[in-house]
Amino acid sequence: MFKLNKVFKKTKYITLTKEEDINVNEKSKEETNKVKKIKLNKNSSKGSIENVENKIKEDENDTNKPNIPNGLWIKCGDCGEVLYKKDFDVDKKICLSCGKHYRMSARERIYCLIDEESFIEFDKEMKTMNPLNFQGYEEKISKYQASSKVEEAIVTGYGTILGKKTVIGVMDSNFMMGSMGSVVGEKLTRAVEYATENKLPVIVFTASGGARMQEGIFSLMQMAKTSAAIEKHNEAGLLYISVLTDPTTGGVTASFAMLGDIILSEPGALIGFAGKRVIEQTIKQKLPKGFQTAEFLLEHGFIDKIVARSEMKETLANIIEIHQ
Ligand SMILES: [Zn+2]
Repeated sequence: MFKLNKVFKKTKYITLTKEEDINVNEKSKEETNKVKKIKLNKNSSKGSIENVENKIKEDENDTNKPNIPNGLWIKCGDCGEVLYKKDFDVDKKICLSCGKHYRMSARERIYCLIDEESFIEFDKEMKTMNPLNFQGYEEKISKYQASSKVEEAIVTGYGTILGKKTVIGVMDSNFMMGSMGSVVGEKLTRAVEYATENKLPVIVFTASGGARMQEGIFSLMQMAKTSAAIEKHNEAGLLYISVLTDPTTGGVTASFAMLGDIILSEPGALIGFAGKRVIEQTIKQKLPKGFQTAEFLLEHGFIDKIVARSEMKETLANIIEIHQ
């Protein structure tokens, strides 16, 4: 479910304004204090749905959203390197100093991957119906549509990658932490069905906090629906590549993210089902450090390869070519 996983915060970078970039070290101390304060506030609020929603808001505000307008410079949250914002965007949101891959929006990813002018978007107008009449859900959707520039947490469509035809679905963690509601499930299912009919491969970039709590059972049903469509695609002998990006968790991990014929991941991505604390409480054992990272999962055979963002386009085109 829409997890309040503290690990999400690790992807944070700090935007610096012109005046701030002189005193980088002092600034980073202040930022640390800010984060501490937010943590304290969170601990003090317990219980009601309203409080949970507030927590989610804080978490969402605290992830790696660029907040760029004032700042020409950003500071890598991992290595502390100060990077020029324009270069950072040209470098596909990778820190050139430490190689940290920051989160990308769905549109940015499509722009980086798909050949120019080849992309045809599917079901752009599909809207969430609020099936459970969850209070404030429609307002929330509108707010995210305005801030993230996507209609829902996934963008699907057809396009070519270095000339290779494919159907692609890209999730966007900026939209309600990429949570999977009925629209996400339906859009993906339709895209996979289109690929099956037209004998095309499917590539899905996952980024999700899990199933969308505001849609309850309707969101959980999407796991079965998407999996069934992928199985039919598989029975037709077609290729499905899933690319796990930071973060891929919950119901998305438990369905289409792990069903790829080939499963790739970006470096350092958080990949898991439940959060660390929940697992430890359930199995009553300590878990190894970093057990939900792409690197750990590669070592233990869950994923096939970690591919840097700079090599993703060529790698995907090659995989499609050898499977044609
Ligand atoms: Zn860095």
